Amino acid sequence: MKVPLLDLTRQYEMLKDRIEPKILEVAQSGKYIMGPYVKEFEEKAAKYIGVKHAIGVASGTDALLLSLEAFGVKAGDEVITTPFSFFATSEVIANLGAKPVFVDVDPDTMNIDPELIEAKITEKTKAIIPVHIFGASADMDPIMKIAEKHDLKVCEDACQAIGTEYKGNKTGTLGHTGGFSFFPSKNLGAFGDGGLVTTNDDELAELIGVLRKHGSFIRYQNDILGHNSRLDGMQAAILNIKLDHLDDWNNARRANAAYYREVFDATDGLIVVQDEADYTRHTYHQFTVKIENGKRDLIHEKLKELGIGNAIYYTIPLHLQKAHDDLGYKTGDMPVTEDLCSKVISLPIFPELREDEREHVAKTVVEIARS
Ligand SMILES: *Cc1c(COP(=O)(O)O)cnc(C)c1O
Repeated sequence: MKVPLLDLTRQYEMLKDRIEPKILEVAQSGKYIMGPYVKEFEEKAAKYIGVKHAIGVASGTDALLLSLEAFGVKAGDEVITTPFSFFATSEVIANLGAKPVFVDVDPDTMNIDPELIEAKITEKTKAIIPVHIFGASADMDPIMKIAEKHDLKVCEDACQAIGTEYKGNKTGTLGHTGGFSFFPSKNLGAFGDGGLVTTNDDELAELIGVLRKHGSFIRYQNDILGHNSRLDGMQAAILNIKLDHLDDWNNARRANAAYYREVFDATDGLIVVQDEADYTRHTYHQFTVKIENGKRDLIHEKLKELGIGNAIYYTIPLHLQKAHDDLGYKTGDMPVTEDLCSKVISLPIFPELREDEREHVAKTVVEIARS
């Protein structure tokens, strides 16, 4: 049996009776950029997340970039983040001429370790980007406490964590801003690129709303440098429909995760599942395990041969990426993250995954690990 890591066509089949007429409606409306579909989605997303402002932007990457710009981060500043993430997280910092300063992660939750943050704060530090990795919330209370003490701004990278909760509140409501991605493979995926910034701060909301349209507070009058970074009406209309299903999809992911967890917890520490700390309600954008007997690469190769989808998030930690060579990090600087990068593998978890498929995946992984 072949099992895909992710099959977006199954979701499309389920929704096409609602989505196809909507796509035609948007096409016929002539309202393609900003406009009513975007406004409707922003209002609905703000309500869902439980935040005052939701601002549609062109991508998750831009959601982070515009947040940092709105915080006033500029060349020479430092921004603290995790080395165990997708490249966009540190790329946006470096693209502003600022310096990403990495803080190692907790080996169980795989999220930034709040206890290691304060030692990395200097007079140049302006902000922190905690990432809710794979859909599990970072431990936000201690992070916000440190930020308050040192007058830093916090942008949650919630690109993998729409619907995730931290102590009963949704991610994206905890920092000064939250950044979300609607890249098609994310838990809430568009039919192209898209993103969202959330904030409870009126001033940040206004500034980000202006940064996404060329820094223009008043039409044709440009007061600050901005970007062309808008969510388009077609994507917003599709996301409007999909948002109605997000909780069901996240629950289906959680059910798949619960099944895998039961199987892998019975392997006596051979296959260790990412910890779901008691402060978070995980939404399993990825289901990631650590293979503790050195057979990760073997499992990766064998699954590929057998047609079982899997991926290694992440093979290279951010501090060792070539694009960050100028930062001067070397192997050994972030031991926990480097260890994770040698042990982790992510398995199929998407909501439409069938029971026979997940059973086949779990059984095969255990067999190879024990071989
Ligand atoms: C996907 C992702 C991004 C970037 O989102 P895009 O919409 O692809 O620009 C940023 N950070 C993390 C952790 C992500 O997973």
